Amino acid sequence: MADPERIDADLAVVGAGAAGLYAAYTGALRGARVALVSATPLARTASYWAQGGLAAALAVDDSPDLHREDTERAGRGLVRSSAAAVLCREAPGTVADLERLGVHFDADRHGNLALGLEGGHSRRRVVHAGGSATGRRVVRQLSAVAVETHGIEVIEGARAARLWTREGRVVGVVCEDGRAIHAPAVILATGGSAALWRRTTNPPGSLGMGLLLAREAGAALADLELMQFHPTAVTGVKGREGFLVTEAIRGEGATLLDGQGERFVEELAPRDEVARAIWAVMTQTGAPSVDLDMRAVDPALFPNVVSALREAGLDPVRELVPVAPAAHYGMGGIVADLDGATTVPGLYAVGESACTGLHGANRLASNSLSECFVFGARASFAALSEPRGEPGEPPAAPALEPPSRETRHALWQHAGLVRDAEGLNALAEDPHPLARLIARHALLRTETRGAHMRADFPDLDPARDLQHSITRGDADEPLFERWT
Ligand SMILES: Cc1cc2nc3c(=O)[nH]c(=O)nc-3n(C[C@H](O)[C@H](O)[C@H](O)COP(=O)(O)OP(=O)(O)OC[C@H]3O[C@@H](n4cnc5c(N)ncnc54)[C@H](O)[C@@H]3O)c2cc1C
Repeated sequence: MADPERIDADLAVVGAGAAGLYAAYTGALRGARVALVSATPLARTASYWAQGGLAAALAVDDSPDLHREDTERAGRGLVRSSAAAVLCREAPGTVADLERLGVHFDADRHGNLALGLEGGHSRRRVVHAGGSATGRRVVRQLSAVAVETHGIEVIEGARAARLWTREGRVVGVVCEDGRAIHAPAVILATGGSAALWRRTTNPPGSLGMGLLLAREAGAALADLELMQFHPTAVTGVKGREGFLVTEAIRGEGATLLDGQGERFVEELAPRDEVARAIWAVMTQTGAPSVDLDMRAVDPALFPNVVSALREAGLDPVRELVPVAPAAHYGMGGIVADLDGATTVPGLYAVGESACTGLHGANRLASNSLSECFVFGARASFAALSEPRGEPGEPPAAPALEPPSRETRHALWQHAGLVRDAEGLNALAEDPHPLARLIARHALLRTETRGAHMRADFPDLDPARDLQHSITRGDADEPLFERWT
């Protein structure tokens, strides 16, 4: 009799955000039986929360080359050019595919796709759906498609707790509740780790769980020190702490003001620059925030931002919005090649859990949703050629420990916007394994580059261009490796 706890599939996908949903869909489209495992309901994914949109070179005055150049410039000498080239070349086709799947992107008054401008982009190239409701619209539609697609079995409320390995290959995944999925390939699409930091824009589930699963199975991790801090997360407004106010609002003319009501930064500079300028004002004045002035912006363009603030008692059409940086996006993750393959056979990683080197040291706004789709599709294609073997018995699943309040405080205090050796050495003793790894990576990078600012090494070291910090297999200490 078949074991009710055991599911056999051609492909297991862990995580049902943008990357996981699209990888599962494209896998099923090629005839695979896909098991899609998601720990949390859809509204808890970072993808659902995405406000800005997807970046793609679609305008007549734009090209994939210009998009790649902007990506590389924002990434501060650390972008893997081959990954950026793939993203920028394939993103326009992905937008077309999503439209075919029923996502309605916003149009201008001529009926063409309306293209937004965000920090670091030299052209208007960000497509939205429902203004700042892009993530919600896209994820809802893809979820509906996944449920209707023949070949996808959705396993909701199941948390992957261990990868099932045999003879050096990943052959499946085991969930906390004892269910085991056997498949020749597993794609991790478990999202980022920004919620490990006390102050974050991310949903509570973004804890980097996939990174720890991959590491336990022997996969290499990269660039863990590179956490992007979003400049404009709401602070001091009850019930809206960490709520992100999309950069697209600055693209439509919103300004940042200090306590004197003066502008102090070019609002559409890349995120690391804007976040640091805000931090400098806050440090000099002792103020807990700066102000975002969006009073001149058409509220109809960003309905969910406006209504979320109004519900909290702040009317952004008449009042200034207090904002400060918050942990937002991990540029690092599980080392993955251009097809999402990790360093362990049978294991793939896509979306924010992966590190292809695409984002370098500072992600260009709205490149991450595009990445989820472009690399999600590539990974499912590659994963389907993995050989099927005899998996043996699944391992037992351990209970997963969430990070403590103290760990989240320690990450914010010691691995926040500005770091130094003393704080990072303290963090390197934290009980949480990912916090310790983050500290070691941040200690290795003795320079200031993009999102990583060392008070004790305030300059960029040109010798570290293209040098990524990597922890391989069961090694405890990261080393630099050059990626091109
Ligand atoms: C507020 C906000 C606004 C943003 N705006 C934009 C934007 O406009 N444009 C843009 O490009 N990017 C934006 N980003 C970033 C972008 O949304 C994310 O990088 C992207 O959505 C990540 O998608 P993902 O599929 O990799 O992960 P997620 O969407 O985070 O999904 C991860 C999934 O993995 C599941 N999971 C995790 N661990 C386990 C486990 N152990 N077992 C089973 N399931 C597990 C979760 O439940 C979830 O289903 C924004 C992020 C935030 C937080």
